[in-house]
Amino acid sequence: MQTYTAPLRDMRFVMHELHDSADLAKLPGLQEVTPDLLNAILEEAAKFIGATLLPLNAGGDAEGCHYEDGVVRTPNGFKAAYQAFVEGGWGSLNADPAYGGQGLPESVSKLVEEMICGCNLAFGLYPGLSHGAYLALKSHGSKELKDLYLPKMVDGSWSGTMCLTEAHCGTDLGLLRTKALPQQDGSYRVSGSKIFISAGEHDLTKNIIHLVLARLPDAAPGVKGISLFLVPKFLPNADGSVGARNGVRCVGIEHKMGIKGSATCQLNFDQATGWLVGEPHKGMQAMFVMMNSERLSVGTQGLGVGELAYQSAAAYAKERLQGRALGGAKHPEKSADPNRASRRAPYADDHASLQRGLPGARVLGRECARSHGPGQGPRRTHGSRGFRRAADAGGEGAVYRSGLGDDQSRFADLRWPRLRRRSWHGAVGA
Ligand SMILES: Cc1cc2nc3c(=O)[nH]c(=O)nc-3n(C[C@H](O)[C@H](O)[C@H](O)COP(=O)(O)OP(=O)(O)OC[C@H]3O[C@@H](n4cnc5c(N)ncnc54)[C@H](O)[C@@H]3O)c2cc1C
Repeated sequence: MQTYTAPLRDMRFVMHELHDSADLAKLPGLQEVTPDLLNAILEEAAKFIGATLLPLNAGGDAEGCHYEDGVVRTPNGFKAAYQAFVEGGWGSLNADPAYGGQGLPESVSKLVEEMICGCNLAFGLYPGLSHGAYLALKSHGSKELKDLYLPKMVDGSWSGTMCLTEAHCGTDLGLLRTKALPQQDGSYRVSGSKIFISAGEHDLTKNIIHLVLARLPDAAPGVKGISLFLVPKFLPNADGSVGARNGVRCVGIEHKMGIKGSATCQLNFDQATGWLVGEPHKGMQAMFVMMNSERLSVGTQGLGVGELAYQSAAAYAKERLQGRALGGAKHPEKSADPNRASRRAPYADDHASLQRGLPGARVLGRECARSHGPGQGPRRTHGSRGFRRAADAGGEGAVYRSGLGDDQSRFADLRWPRLRRRSWHGAVGA
């Protein structure tokens, strides 16, 4: 049984007392963003996310995604939840009003993202990837590309991906082989294979917009010869409707120990039509807008999962009867004392340290979000430290030992944000 109540009190403390949320309204375009409005947004988010995404978390992980002949179906309930999510505007909180977004600061939407990741990380990866792709395209795409794609990505009817990794190169992207051949009409034909692509194929949106790293024919070896291309699953018509199928196909999904509701895909690009994003051979620069956004999200994921792990373990420890209190039986009429009273639980200290660590991680995450903007993301997402505590203290110490056997793999595998974050640092030598 997973327990999660959005830590609104802590979030309000960070927003209003640690930082002065009233200052936000002094910034251009944010005149209406008052502390009352922020409180209302967080309260509504907590209600919606708790009621819609948390109930799908365990079931989605048990069921996982289904792959059949190039098509991926997300777990039962994900599609309806995604529809409700976009209709409620939860995916466009921090997007530019020029493209249909609500223009809220990143630091506010990160608190909502924390709730999403706490209640259902697998679900949260779909809109999370879309937001990163939106940022990269907005920062480096041509006006034509932005006008055609961004409104759909902001309203959630189209989603986004980042296609970096290939079978022979993850950290060392300088080795990537995917090619892009220029065409007379200004487009490119993209061919190659990518692996581990989150949200690479699914049934939640009408179109999927892949941001793909590839090499032009005259590219230099290494990372200096990498360019970025936009490759849609379906080629859009001029009016923005979905047109012909493009030459990109999902050839399989990864079998994982957790976050199985998130489709991690192998994608094959076969002469797929794409368009250059940014300048030739400057693809890493453009992609880093997205990678930096994802780094910040990975920290937020750790924080959300840490909160879920802590609350679930603490609730279990409170209700479990186990052993006798050190100073003598507190409830002699019962077979054992409540765990809390006995204070024998080896994880009691872990709980306390995790409880202390989470607010700190939230403050750091929000600091990163405050300084985060297109093209200038933080080099490190310290919020992941909260995750480390969650995995080490909550995940193993508390969750395993408290006997929540069914959840073991879910929490164990939720270590991946930490591993991946390290790898991405490796990729840039940060
Ligand atoms: C769940 C999941 C989702 C993912 N989603 C995406 C996605 O959406 N898009 C995408 O493109 N990729 C995605 N990835 C792939 C991810 O970005 C790569 O796994 C990551 O870049 C590391 O590459 P690798 O797995 O090949 O590991 P490797 O590059 O083999 O690295 C393995 C380990 O060795 C270390 N290492 C590597 N090189 C060095 C070195 N020179 N010196 C010291 N240490 C080194 C790394 O830090 C790491 O700890 C995803 C991965 C996972 C697990």
